[in-house]
Amino acid sequence: MAGAGRLRLDGKGRWPSVERALRRALYPELICFDVDGTIVDAAMSGLATVSATLLHLTGRRWTTAKLVAALRERQWRGIGEMVAELCARCGRETPVAEVERVMDSFYFPGPEHPGFFTLERPLIGPGLLGRLERRCALAFVTMRSRRRLDAIRSLAGLPRGAIAVCEEDVVAAKPDPEGVRLALTLSGRSCAWMVGDREEDVAAAVAAGVLPIGVGPRRGKLEAAGAAYVLDDINDLESLLPEAPAGPPP
Ligand SMILES: [Mg+2]
Repeated sequence: MAGAGRLRLDGKGRWPSVERALRRALYPELICFDVDGTIVDAAMSGLATVSATLLHLTGRRWTTAKLVAALRERQWRGIGEMVAELCARCGRETPVAEVERVMDSFYFPGPEHPGFFTLERPLIGPGLLGRLERRCALAFVTMRSRRRLDAIRSLAGLPRGAIAVCEEDVVAAKPDPEGVRLALTLSGRSCAWMVGDREEDVAAAVAAGVLPIGVGPRRGKLEAAGAAYVLDDINDLESLLPEAPAGPPP
């Protein structure tokens, strides 16, 4: 149904549970965002960085189809773990830390190239995060390193005051709720949304007890994972908030 969302009730639908669910849906104190595929389109930069790293470490060229198939094999903790595994399959055992170092040398500017991070494009319109920041706290929950998140701060207009939960801050990647729970703890808020483009973002939100909001073209899979709403475009996020500034209901 157009414009409809779903509320997840705990406590068998008793009034305190309904009230809690409605308050969380209408008056978020914190909005958490996934980054890649949600705030920025990092598909081209990721593909270019992984391809260049694998060519450097294994001497082999990998097709896009093979890289996508490897990505879908399982839930990798990070892209460096996947690249290390592909190196091992070629007989080139390489520690993840060394893989990450090589990837960074291609991703960030070098003496002879501008860095593949320049291929990234914002998905979020100018000013949206600033407007949201005036209504509630913001957090980014991502498996990017902090350095990689900092690289796109100006490109995506990430507010300096937002909380950043990065790869180095957690033991377990999404769908584990560790990152979302850490954002809740750091913000001191409990009533929150989690916005992301993948099922693991939705699963992490559900497990952390925050409102899961999907975004992007994977509507069916995001709804099946439990998303309360799925937006085609991240820039429609404000339409889910009440007109008045966020705060306690009258
Ligand atoms: Mg994502």
